[in-house]
Amino acid sequence: MQDEKFDAIVVGAGPAGIAAAITMAKAGLNVVVLEKGEKPGSKNVMGGILYRHNLEEVVGDAWKEAPVERPMIEEQRWFMTDQAALRLLGHKNFRHREHPNSFSVLRARFDPWFAAKAEEAGAFVINETVVESLIVRDGRVVGVTTGREGDLFADAVVVCEGIGLGMRLLERAGLKKPIRANQAAIAVKEIMALDPEKIEDRFNCEPGEGCAVECYGDATLGKSGFMFIYTNKDTLSVGGGVLVSDYNGGVVSSRDVGRVNHGIVSPNEMLEHFKNHPAIKPLLKGAETVEYVAKMIPEAGYRAMPKLYGNGYLVCGDAAMMANPVHREGSNLAMASGRMAGETVIQAKELGDFSEQTLSRYKGRIDNSWIAKDMRKYNDAVTLLEQNPDLLGKYPGLLDSALDEFFRVDGVSKRDKQRKVLRMFRKEGGLGFLIDNVKAAIALGFLPP
Ligand SMILES: Cc1cc2nc3c(=O)[nH]c(=O)nc-3n(C[C@H](O)[C@H](O)[C@H](O)COP(=O)(O)OP(=O)(O)OC[C@H]3O[C@@H](n4cnc5c(N)ncnc54)[C@H](O)[C@@H]3O)c2cc1C
Repeated sequence: MQDEKFDAIVVGAGPAGIAAAITMAKAGLNVVVLEKGEKPGSKNVMGGILYRHNLEEVVGDAWKEAPVERPMIEEQRWFMTDQAALRLLGHKNFRHREHPNSFSVLRARFDPWFAAKAEEAGAFVINETVVESLIVRDGRVVGVTTGREGDLFADAVVVCEGIGLGMRLLERAGLKKPIRANQAAIAVKEIMALDPEKIEDRFNCEPGEGCAVECYGDATLGKSGFMFIYTNKDTLSVGGGVLVSDYNGGVVSSRDVGRVNHGIVSPNEMLEHFKNHPAIKPLLKGAETVEYVAKMIPEAGYRAMPKLYGNGYLVCGDAAMMANPVHREGSNLAMASGRMAGETVIQAKELGDFSEQTLSRYKGRIDNSWIAKDMRKYNDAVTLLEQNPDLLGKYPGLLDSALDEFFRVDGVSKRDKQRKVLRMFRKEGGLGFLIDNVKAAIALGFLPP
C-alpha cells in the first residue's frame, strides 16, 4: 500500500465500524474500513441476539435480507440452584412474527453481509490488515500504521476495535485507561450442531422461530453474570460469562461440593458446569460442538467509558465500553454509536473542521440518546451483584427450598408449611433479604432510586 488519504478511516469491521462506514459512505465520503480478520466476522463472537431497530436505522429495508438465524419469539429467564431450575420469566410474544424485535445471528454469516452493504454504499473494506498504531501529529490523530507497507491518513479516524485482552490501539496511544478486572466479563461460547426439528421440539418453537434462554444463579456458580442458550437454524449458541475478577481459582462444581458461590477456575469449566446441569443436559443431548470461542464484554456502565472524541478521532461500540449487560445488549449500542459517529464526521466534513470541538458533537449525540441514559441507569448493576454475592448465590437456593416445601405433599398442613417457609426466610435472610432485593430492584431498574 502507498501512503493514502481518506475522509475517514474506520478501525474494525464489527457492527460499530460498519454502521459508521455505511453512514459516511452514503453521504459521499471517501471511507476505508480496516479489519484484521480474514473476513468480517471471522474474529467475532457474540451470543448472539441482534436487534432489528438499530440495523434498520443503518440499512433501511435491507434488514429483511440480512442472513439471520431465527426471529426470537420467546424470552426465558431461569434462576438455577444445583438441584432445581426456576423459570422466573417466559414471554412468548407472537407480535414478533410480523414485526421481529430481535434475531439470533452467527457473526461469521452476518458480518460479511453487513460489510458488503458498506461496500455497496461506496466504502472500501480491507481485510487481513491489522492497525498497529494511531499516527498522532501535534496532538491530532491524522492516520494509522498497519502491518502493510505505507501509512494511511484521514481527516477522521473512527476507532471501533472492540474490547480485548491486552493493550489495544487506544490504550497504547494513551487515549484510554487499561481495563480493570471488574469492568469486563470474559464470556465463552460453543456453537453446537443440532437437527432443526430437535431444536424446535426441545425449545417448543414453531418451524423457523426461536427462543432465548438465560440462566442465573448456579448457572454461573452464583457469580455476577449469566449463561445462555440461543436457538439458531441448525445450531445452538451455548455460553455465558462472569467478571474477569470472578475467575479467582477454587472449587468448580457446586454439585460436587453441595455449595455455590466459590471461585471459578476458568470460563471453560463454568461452561461445562452449566452444560451438565440436569435442566440443561437434556436440551443439549446429541448436539455436537463445532466451534468454541472466548471474548470480553464491557460491564462497568457509563463511568467506565473513555473519552469518546479528540482532535481527529472518535470511539464507538465496545471500544468505548458501551454495553448493557443487564439487558444483554451490545451490538445495538455499537451500531447506534457507529451511526452517530458517522453523522458527526459528515457534519465535520461540511464545516471543514475535524477539531476536538467539532467532534465533541458526537458525545452530545450519545449523551442525548438512549445510549447514555441506559448506560447511566445500569451504572451500579454489576457492582451491586459483585458486592452482594447472596443475590445470585444464596437467594435462588432460598426460593428453591420455599417452593420445594410449597409444592411437596407430605402430610404436613399448609399452615405449618407457611410457618416453616417464613422461618426459613427469617433464618437465612430476614430483613437483609428484603433490603438486598430492594437494592437489586433499584440497580436493575425495576424501582426508582
Ligand atoms: C459471548 C458473547 C455474547 C454476546 N451476546 C450478545 C447478544 O446476544 N446481543 C448483543 O447485542 N451483544 C452481545 N454481545 C456483545 C457484542 O458482541 C458487542 O457489543 C459487539 O460486537 C460490539 O461491536 P463492535 O463493533 O464495537 O466490536 P466487535 O464486534 O468486537 O468488532 C471489532 C472489530 O475490530 C477488529 N479489530 C480489532 N482490533 C483491530 C485492529 N487493531 N486492526 C484491525 N481490526 C481490528 C476485530 O477483528 C473486529 O472485527 C456478546 C458478546 C460476547 C463476547
